[in-house]
Amino acid sequence: MRTQCRECGLGFGAEVERGQPLPCPNCQHAREVAADGWDAAAAKVDRCPLCGCDHLYRQRDFNRTLGCVLVIIGILLVPWTYGLSLIVLSGVDLVIYYMLPFAVVCYRCDTVYRDARPGPRQGEFDLLKHDVVKYGKTWVDKREKRQA
Ligand SMILES: [Zn+2]
Ligand SMILES: [Zn+2]
Repeated sequence: MRTQCRECGLGFGAEVERGQPLPCPNCQHAREVAADGWDAAAAKVDRCPLCGCDHLYRQRDFNRTLGCVLVIIGILLVPWTYGLSLIVLSGVDLVIYYMLPFAVVCYRCDTVYRDARPGPRQGEFDLLKHDVVKYGKTWVDKREKRQA
């Protein structure tokens, strides 16, 4: 899974283990890992082990580098294929995207649990929910703003 250190902002990949603190490779700041609310064997995360937030969403585990490489190849081939390469490779891109498994992501700390499979409660990314969970905005706030 991919996480980001809250002390120094470094993003890094790590394995979380039940009850084992997770140290940052850069500043050594260790974060507590919750012992329950998730199950690695069952590939389930109900509550974020790192921040205790129980709002998570599903996201395609897409390799952005691969996507970029495909687009660049498409662009490079344009003079020989009269632009067809672009269309073909963006098609390939799309197919790869839909074949990818889902990962589970925490709304609050953005940690990506790549080995977890989303449960029925964990839907697609919701910007409104993201703002509420992350920045502490309330639902009431949003509605008032919309009416104004
Ligand atoms: Zn750090
Ligand atoms: Zn979290």
